[in-house]
Amino acid sequence: MIDLRSDTLTQPTPTMRQAMANAKVGDDVFEEDPTLKKLEALAAKKTGKESALFVPSGTMGNLISVLSHCQRGDEVLLGDRSHIFLHEVGGMSALGGVHPRTLPNNEDGTLPLPLVEQSIRKLDIHYPLTRLICLENTHNHCQGSPLSPEYMASMAALAEKHGLKIHLDGARLFNAAVALDIEVEALTRHADSVMFCLSKGLSAPVGSLVCGDRNFIQRARKNRKMVGGGMRQAGHLAAAGLIALENMVERLKDDHLHAGLLAEKLASIDGIELDQTQVKTNIIFFKLNHPKIDGDTFLTLLEERSIKILMVDPGVFRAVLHREVSREQVQTVAQTIHSILIEQYK
Ligand SMILES: *Cc1c(COP(=O)(O)O)cnc(C)c1O
Repeated sequence: MIDLRSDTLTQPTPTMRQAMANAKVGDDVFEEDPTLKKLEALAAKKTGKESALFVPSGTMGNLISVLSHCQRGDEVLLGDRSHIFLHEVGGMSALGGVHPRTLPNNEDGTLPLPLVEQSIRKLDIHYPLTRLICLENTHNHCQGSPLSPEYMASMAALAEKHGLKIHLDGARLFNAAVALDIEVEALTRHADSVMFCLSKGLSAPVGSLVCGDRNFIQRARKNRKMVGGGMRQAGHLAAAGLIALENMVERLKDDHLHAGLLAEKLASIDGIELDQTQVKTNIIFFKLNHPKIDGDTFLTLLEERSIKILMVDPGVFRAVLHREVSREQVQTVAQTIHSILIEQYK
């Protein structure tokens, strides 16, 4: 099976499995797990923050970040195509009493600066207090686009001018840094807090990190406990995370090359609508426009040929490249799709 549904499908490497088995561990709720401390220190160093906190998932990392920045009734500005808004079960409002205010994302995942500024509430007895801006980098539902350090800097300046904080949902932050050929710190310096995932392209089995200043991480640690994310001998997981951070970042550029290659091949097939210029990291989106095959049929035909992709809207598909998809398999996928659409069902 060639599975392009998500980069979360990556299995831990043999080196990770060995490191997990042999990790030195302790009880992390007592802050006594040496391997976990090592991972948190490395995450803080990479993102240029004072402190970091290991969490079981990106969703929990974003939730406790919002909880640690906001009080009940505060308002958060975020994109209408952001993961936090679309795919995290409304956690900020359900669990935090925090009010999300969505602004339309541009195609490249940015939020228009003038619109953000306009949306900041004045002090008025009728209004919630605007407290936080959430950005996403890379932006999953905007073609996996990386936001530039220049854009992040102008948003940071705006936030500072109005006394707001910035949380960065950097589930695929390292993809952004690799695509832009910069250190992640060049992006994270413009955010007060950042969450990134070890369990996507970086191939660790479990885990994300939240990074920020010492006070923020102290509040986040307490909020993590509150939502049930305090873990005991979690150093077994951190051991894989250390390998993810140390050894798996460089190779993300292969995924980006493979995404570019697949996009180029698919764009040339009649019946597929795909804008190659939008493909900048490991995610590609395309539309199917075929007289005889609808979206569901397309998925079935692909599965019968041992290929899985994700349909995100009727007739709209997402394919994500990752460590377990080789260049040869990219060729196979392109040839298979060509053969279905052009030869078998023309
Ligand atoms: C995957 C993802 C998350 C959530 O991570 P989980 O570990 O799946 O909870 C958050 N934000 C973005 C942009 C993501 O792609």
